[in-house]
Amino acid sequence: MPIGIVTVAYIGATILFILALSGLSNPETARNGNLYAIVGMTIALLATIFGPAVTANYGVLIGAVAIGGAIGLVLARRVQMTQMPELVAILHSLVGMAAVFVGFASFADPNAHFVGVEKTIHDIEIYIGILIGAVTFSGSVIAFGKLSGKITGNAMILPARHWLNLGLLLITIWLGMQFVQQAPAGNGMVPLLIMTGIALLFGVHMVMAIGGADMPVVISMLNSYSGWAASATGFMLSNDLLIVTGALVGSSGAILSYIMCRAMNRKFLSVIAGGFGTTSSSGSGGEVDQGEVIAIDTTETAELLKNAKEVMIIPGYGMAVAQAQHTVHEITKKLRDKGINVRFGIHPVAGRMPGHMNVLLAEAKVPYDIVFEMDEINEDFPDVDVSIVIGANDIVNPSALTDPDSPIAGMPVLECWKGDTTIVLKRSMATGYAGVQNPLFFLDNTRMLFGDAKETLDKVLAEL
Ligand code: NDP
Repeated sequence: MPIGIVTVAYIGATILFILALSGLSNPETARNGNLYAIVGMTIALLATIFGPAVTANYGVLIGAVAIGGAIGLVLARRVQMTQMPELVAILHSLVGMAAVFVGFASFADPNAHFVGVEKTIHDIEIYIGILIGAVTFSGSVIAFGKLSGKITGNAMILPARHWLNLGLLLITIWLGMQFVQQAPAGNGMVPLLIMTGIALLFGVHMVMAIGGADMPVVISMLNSYSGWAASATGFMLSNDLLIVTGALVGSSGAILSYIMCRAMNRKFLSVIAGGFGTTSSSGSGGEVDQGEVIAIDTTETAELLKNAKEVMIIPGYGMAVAQAQHTVHEITKKLRDKGINVRFGIHPVAGRMPGHMNVLLAEAKVPYDIVFEMDEINEDFPDVDVSIVIGANDIVNPSALTDPDSPIAGMPVLECWKGDTTIVLKRSMATGYAGVQNPLFFLDNTRMLFGDAKETLDKVLAEL
């Protein structure tokens, strides 16, 4: 394929990726956004495979694409909705790993023809590409472990961790200088390997030090890193499309990290430095006796809902686990048919990935115009007759506002306790992701509806 056509194809793919990002920013246009991304990626792959950069052995390339594509297809078909966050984390790690491999391959490439300043720039690209790639890889693997529950969600804090991080940074800069000096003479593998080891350790340390409730920021940050890793790979391979696409992912991930930090009332740097989310020694801990909870059954729940004028539904991670979204929609329809005003209140970090609840509600075809962000409806709770909390915990925990020692202190939450009655659906008195007990459950105007959310809601629907 001539270079001119490849360039046109790359520009077309870039435009499609930008359209995809803008489409994905709204549930109503998300499907189209996905479609743009699929077409853009197909064009990008075809132009790259049949472009001048690939000169030999199509057999190996097609074989690799077929194997990779088949694994992706099987995984995508098998993965449960509740496992999506882990899948995303592990996919980020693959981008990081690819950047590391491409970096070493570029360094070892016997056909590389760079000289003088160009050579220095190329060496810096390799060094930075491997650095970002290695941090992304190991950080994402740890994030995968934390999200799937294989590694504890609590923050693991090493003594003098800030000094340790600073020391690692200074060593990395020094090694980089050594690498750039040695590389023109064909040396430099030793500093490169040591830096890779340090970067891998740094990724592990960075994510281990971030506690449960701050994980959303880590996910969006690793999303951003994976973009920069792809961009660095693009520089190493002199592939413009990869540079632009990586920058799009990198910057949108950075914006998402900012949004997540704002939602949690955290400063980005303090989250990255770690230490939030450590188990509290204060009264919010699970062991402290907070009194009795008041249980409720499905008949009483249906009665309360029927007699309400204003209902607020607050979904959380448990709704995803129970796959209760379709029943929730059925109940919503029934209540709205009775003239009851039903709204959904969505916390920005509900679930286990950004937009998790919106995706589930969109899948169940809940109308978008009754789904509200936390900021839009938090002031309305005093007028709400019944709030129904479906498998949510941390996002409705009043101790975030009242207990300065709580791991989630300062995080804005949905203030449902200000309404007349709150019904909480969960299976037990277990804590949520941040590992803190929730005083909401013990309030006089809270009722606990114990059981799997799907099973209990099916019964409530039948009663309605
Ligand atoms: P939480 O993890 O705080 O609480 C979920 C609740 O759902 C649990 O208390 C659990 O209680 C209940 N539950 C689980 N399964 C079921 C079921 N089948 N039926 C009924 N209830 C069930 O979730 P939230 O959505 O309230 O908060 C999200 C948390 O996750 C925050 O701490 C956030 O920081 C963190 N997080 C968010 C990410 C994001 O990007 N959104 C990423 C990573 C972490 P029980 O076991 O008793 O049933």
